[in-house]
Amino acid sequence: MTDITLRTLEGTTTTLSATEVDALRGRLRGALCLPGEPGYEQARAIWNAMIDRKPALVVRAAGAADVIEAVRLARDRGLLLAVRGGGHNIAGNAVCDRGLMIDLSPMKSVRIDPQGRSARVEPGVTLGEFDREAQAFGLATPLGINSTTGVAGLTLGGGFGWLSRKHGLTVDNLLGADVVTADGTLVHASMRENPDLFWALRGGGGNFGVVTSFEYELHPVGPEVLSGLIVHPFSGARQLLDGYRRVVAAAPPELTAWVVMRKAPPLPFVPAEYHGKEVLVFAACYAGDMERGRKAVAPLQALGKPIADVIGPHPFAGWQAAFDPLLAPGARNYWKSHDLTTLSDGAINALIDAVGHLPGPECEIFVANLGEAVNRAPVDATAYPHRSVEFVVNVHTRWSNASQDGECIGWARQVFDRLAPFATGGVYVNFMPEDEGQRVAKGAYGPNYGRLARLKGQYDPTNLFRMNQNIVPAGERVSGTA
Ligand SMILES: Cc1cc2nc3c(=O)[nH]c(=O)nc-3n(C[C@H](O)[C@H](O)[C@H](O)COP(=O)(O)OP(=O)(O)OC[C@H]3O[C@@H](n4cnc5c(N)ncnc54)[C@H](O)[C@@H]3O)c2cc1C
Repeated sequence: MTDITLRTLEGTTTTLSATEVDALRGRLRGALCLPGEPGYEQARAIWNAMIDRKPALVVRAAGAADVIEAVRLARDRGLLLAVRGGGHNIAGNAVCDRGLMIDLSPMKSVRIDPQGRSARVEPGVTLGEFDREAQAFGLATPLGINSTTGVAGLTLGGGFGWLSRKHGLTVDNLLGADVVTADGTLVHASMRENPDLFWALRGGGGNFGVVTSFEYELHPVGPEVLSGLIVHPFSGARQLLDGYRRVVAAAPPELTAWVVMRKAPPLPFVPAEYHGKEVLVFAACYAGDMERGRKAVAPLQALGKPIADVIGPHPFAGWQAAFDPLLAPGARNYWKSHDLTTLSDGAINALIDAVGHLPGPECEIFVANLGEAVNRAPVDATAYPHRSVEFVVNVHTRWSNASQDGECIGWARQVFDRLAPFATGGVYVNFMPEDEGQRVAKGAYGPNYGRLARLKGQYDPTNLFRMNQNIVPAGERVSGTA
């Protein structure tokens, strides 16, 4: 065993002696992994293959005690610290180079209270794992559309998916959280206990501490929901998008319809002659009564002349994983995202133009529809502020060969620039890549940033938790960079 050199928050280095490392290993219930040791590669590999960082030390936490241990070490020695939940975030802040990484992915407990309609969930749980447990009781809370995403990062940024128009954001359904704050103590945050911290956690990302347990409200959903895809040739995109904006404007909150534009993958229900050609796909889910759902989704099905329509009853947990094959981990990825209040003609023109120049078969543009329950909460109800947004456009650039980095990233930035005049300037913090630090204050948090910065100054004055879309503590000049 040798001494370990780690990077500090100030950008300098510090050394942990072999004796200190051994002592830490002995105190943990989970594993401590050094480079080359079992578990190390698994911990540092995240969804976005663009991110290839090598922490000096990984604590694979088994519970809150391990998290407290690791946070205290980072605080006492001023170590650069990264926190990993599901490892899905596009920006890759779950992993740091040469610092200390807390990997929460071993913390997998989900406890459902069917009578009280609530769930206690540990931070290593994925959306699919949460849905699996909650659906055993016909219950669910709003989560995202890719089942391998971590509940932790998704929740802390806001969280939305097929149930959000009916039941709000994930954070609107958060009842409480256990948090290890920068001073290494565990506190509970809820409407009644530490309400300021609770407010900040609901959208403020990993800025305020390490959450070791989340508590959510659950709702009756499924077990089957009317859901599926309607696939169109892209040639009809203008009329289809015009029809889409009319249909969703009149849709009940139970119905959520998103648009995906890309080259058609070789799905069995898409006629072979369209494989590899540009298509426009409506993805829809009705979270409610099946017959009412059929009526609600009919206007969407009536648009244009689809080449495939596979809307039907599907198990909710299965539908939640419907996009998994297209979003598997291990590819290179770069995203750009805009919030929109309306899908204007200008935005539609920009989208059509962008899809005409897709740089690869896996690149796509998603248009998510929000509104309804999401927008019923006031802007200052939670740290997540975007309560008038109806559409989120997400430019997903995805490819495998590093030689294409320039072309793919360039395309995403061009599409973003073209769409900018039709967007609010706001952005969902969980869709921001690592080079968008300048958008955090105005774009991600807008009117809520001042309060967030003050709370950051209170809970994390030295900015220990800075490997994130960072909120700079008010009143402190923070030195060093991530
Ligand atoms: C393919 C794909 C599809 C997606 N679809 C949706 C969607 O439909 N809806 C949606 O809302 N979002 C969606 N997202 C975005 C997703 O919400 C974010 O990527 C989210 O950060 C993932 O959480 P994670 O725990 O997996 O990520 P991680 O990369 O592990 O964590 C992200 C950051 O969160 C912080 N963090 C994580 N866990 C903790 C914790 N326990 N305590 C404190 N801080 C923590 C850290 O700062 C970390 O850097 C999608 C992402 C991908 C890649």
